[in-house]
Amino acid sequence: MTARILNGNLIRDQIFGELSSEIASLSALGIRPGLAAVLVGDNPASKLYVNSKIAACGKLGLASFLLTPSASITTSELLAVVAELNRRDDVDGILVQMPLPPQVDAKKILDAVDPAKDVDGFHPFNVGRLVAGRPNLVACTPAGVMEILRRGGIALDGANAVVLGRSDIVGKPMALLLLHANATVTVCHSKTRDLPAVVRRADIVVAALGRAALITPDYIQPGATVIDVGQIVVTDRAQAERILANFPERLAKFREKGSILVGDVHPDVVNIAGAYTPVPGGVGPLTIAMLMSNTVKAAAMRRGRNALPAGAIPATARS
Ligand code: NAP
Repeated sequence: MTARILNGNLIRDQIFGELSSEIASLSALGIRPGLAAVLVGDNPASKLYVNSKIAACGKLGLASFLLTPSASITTSELLAVVAELNRRDDVDGILVQMPLPPQVDAKKILDAVDPAKDVDGFHPFNVGRLVAGRPNLVACTPAGVMEILRRGGIALDGANAVVLGRSDIVGKPMALLLLHANATVTVCHSKTRDLPAVVRRADIVVAALGRAALITPDYIQPGATVIDVGQIVVTDRAQAERILANFPERLAKFREKGSILVGDVHPDVVNIAGAYTPVPGGVGPLTIAMLMSNTVKAAAMRRGRNALPAGAIPATARS
């Protein structure tokens, strides 16, 4: 069996198409949604991520504002940056790119973002809404996985779903979204006993571990849907040869470049799964699509025709 490929680039393009009409309706009201990205220091990977988010804003006609404080910024200085973005009416979404330098208290910074502008969905107010089954702004990567499943026609009602990883940004919100969609959810982590046996019971596997190609075909029930969130750059030749033994074209690319992006799921899983997201080109494009979607949603909620009355979000949630 060769799995049906769930193509993240196509789904992203569909979502961008739908967002364009929402953006046009807001534009008719004189509203141009705006995203502010705060990029602290010179981390090359962070720069790449932020640039692709800014580029997506440009493609959709959203306003974007890039702030680049130096790596020596203090917690209180960064809190002042966030407070100013909270005040600005032209900023609907605030994105503070992680990781922050060690002297900055990252939790304090994330908690300071106005929940109405929290397009990453990381603020405890938005996490609490998700737990309560009344989601508002939801973390982008798990929200993107739900779009892949929905648009890929994967049935969730009563399905056994196994989420690998319990991070605040992927694993936990992913498990909640699947639970609210009526899947029976198991969450696995580094202390889970007999991981292969647990994963083999799954109709749907979502892997968010950060462990290159750990999930090999023997973990997978034939016909299962496998969603690979992992993004790991492999530079070790022996490791690349082990992972890509059956993919000579990708191995040739590795030899040319000296590195290759892989997921948590071994690519040979394509021979046993029923449906499958590749890396790259699976979940990655959806993370940016959902960030754009959250920014448009935040603008519509705050400034649109049906904007919440001032004070609808309790002041306590803003601290
Ligand atoms: P994280 O915070 O490091 O969490 C990893 C989770 O995996 C933890 O819960 C950890 O368990 C668990 N884990 C690690 N090794 C394990 C093992 N051998 N067996 C069982 N569980 C294990 O990572 P994250 O931020 O959630 O990201 C996960 C992956 O997704 C990374 O590769 C990241 O780059 C990628 N990612 C991709 C996107 C995208 O747009 N595609 C977005 C976000 C993240 P413990 O809790 O017990 O330590």
